[in-house]
Amino acid sequence: MKRYNAWKAAGLFAVAILLSGVSGVQAATKAQAGYQWLEIGDVQVVALSDGTIPVDTKLLHAAPERIDRLLAASRAVPPLAASVNAFLVVAGDRLVLVDAGAGKAMGPGLGKLTASLAGAGYAPGQITDVLLTHIHGDHSAGLTIDGKAVFPKAVVHVNRQEAEYWLNPANKDKALSQHRMMFDLAKTSLAPYVDSGRVQSFDGRMEIVPGITTQPSPGHTPGHSFYLLESNGKKLLFWGDIIHRAEVQFPEPDVTIDYDIDPKAAAAQRKQAMAQAADADIVVAAAHIAFPGVGRVARDGAGYRWLPVPYVNDAPVAGQ
Ligand SMILES: [Zn+2]
Repeated sequence: MKRYNAWKAAGLFAVAILLSGVSGVQAATKAQAGYQWLEIGDVQVVALSDGTIPVDTKLLHAAPERIDRLLAASRAVPPLAASVNAFLVVAGDRLVLVDAGAGKAMGPGLGKLTASLAGAGYAPGQITDVLLTHIHGDHSAGLTIDGKAVFPKAVVHVNRQEAEYWLNPANKDKALSQHRMMFDLAKTSLAPYVDSGRVQSFDGRMEIVPGITTQPSPGHTPGHSFYLLESNGKKLLFWGDIIHRAEVQFPEPDVTIDYDIDPKAAAAQRKQAMAQAADADIVVAAAHIAFPGVGRVARDGAGYRWLPVPYVNDAPVAGQ
């Protein structure tokens, strides 16, 4: 009911704008195209937008003057929004989703993943595997909506430590108060898959589906994992939540965020990941860098700089 009222209010607001003679283009309800095709070797990848969500930069662990200076250097003027990106890998007879969006759990700005998937020409029932970088609402709550599995045929793959951490109620009692609701969300998001035996945990590094290898990167969460896709000599590294605010954490990767379970380890992983991506020139796909969140990393002074992949329309699509 609350959500219905919010939509009703938004509708009335849009009408008010039109009646006042201001262009309807300024109404806040214009959705953008939510998918973008990429080629990695012989494999097609689709960046999928789950939407955007307002960002509170106070959650970043650094002095406000420092954050303001970094945002100003990138001309990032609040209020800021963060992208929530997921990715589809089309690999032979496997349709592999990397992260699953927020579903209905985090407000009407998110939960657009299945619409984005439909735009790319796929239905949720076709997904064979979901790889979770970690179990946080914006990555895993989209697995389940109203108690039902959104991806009824998919096997959900997740690092064993990650699953055990979030699904153990004893850890909820020990967690910071602001992190506790994440445990409830983890349980409801995974429930239909756990109940039907379709959650497969993995340890360390392994080839999880043909051509995709797991890389442990604990810190943001205990079992946070990267996934490395390799095809015909090309690589794409799915980064999950190594970056929450690009304008801040590329130039100064030691800045952590309130959602980090182990901030020190999270910062260490970020520095290592950026050095690896920059020095080996690896293309990365990130959950919260502006959609599509795919690009390269360059060293820049003591920090790093983001180089988005160029946008190409009418990209060649293998197998179609
Ligand atoms: Zn996230």
